[in-house]
Amino acid sequence: MLITRSPLIISNLSKNNLIWHLPASQNEIFLTFDDGPTIVTHWVLDVLKYYNIKATFFCVGDNVKRNPDIFKRILNEGHAKGNHTFNHINAFKTSNKDYFDNVDKADKLINSQLFRPPYGKINISKIKTLRQNYAIVLWSILTGDYDKNISGKKCFSNSLKTSSGSIIVFHDSIKAEKNLKYALPRFIEYFLIKKYIFSPITIDVCLNNSDVQRNFLAQHKQASYF
Ligand SMILES: [Zn+2]
Repeated sequence: MLITRSPLIISNLSKNNLIWHLPASQNEIFLTFDDGPTIVTHWVLDVLKYYNIKATFFCVGDNVKRNPDIFKRILNEGHAKGNHTFNHINAFKTSNKDYFDNVDKADKLINSQLFRPPYGKINISKIKTLRQNYAIVLWSILTGDYDKNISGKKCFSNSLKTSSGSIIVFHDSIKAEKNLKYALPRFIEYFLIKKYIFSPITIDVCLNNSDVQRNFLAQHKQASYF
């Protein structure tokens, strides 16, 4: 398991290899979408194309299998991709072996060195193995678009907490569609007017910024996630 490609240079990575934020030399935002590809992804891709910006899609392997053409469209339009397991499984409720098998199964379709654990849940023993092959990317800003108890307006106001280097999460899922369609275009326009740029997350960006990650983790003490 997890030996299908060369290991990352672990010494370059922060101690926990969890990335919550990325450094940026200018006003730069890392826009990400989880849980696709679904039919909603087409709408997201149309919006991104309209504004001419790039994002990162953390895909569920089973959805890639069901929607290969939508996955291809994500790649053809220059966006980055990440692994979000095959069945969107919860690390706290899954054995290490089953979890790694599920990540591997998704990897065969997605083929990315970026990994985001569903629900942001991951424990140390899983991190230790996964970090040999993946940069584990969490987030700075959760819009809450998937939450049917909050409004699109609230999602938009959540998104405004974004600052340079933030990794922000929306969902290209049917569950999030209503809030996403309200908040995403408003979010993009708000930050474009403020002269921010939108960048996809690459493995190089993750590997090159270990010091910043370490400092950020020290400041924020994200230990609750373990
Ligand atoms: Zn998810």
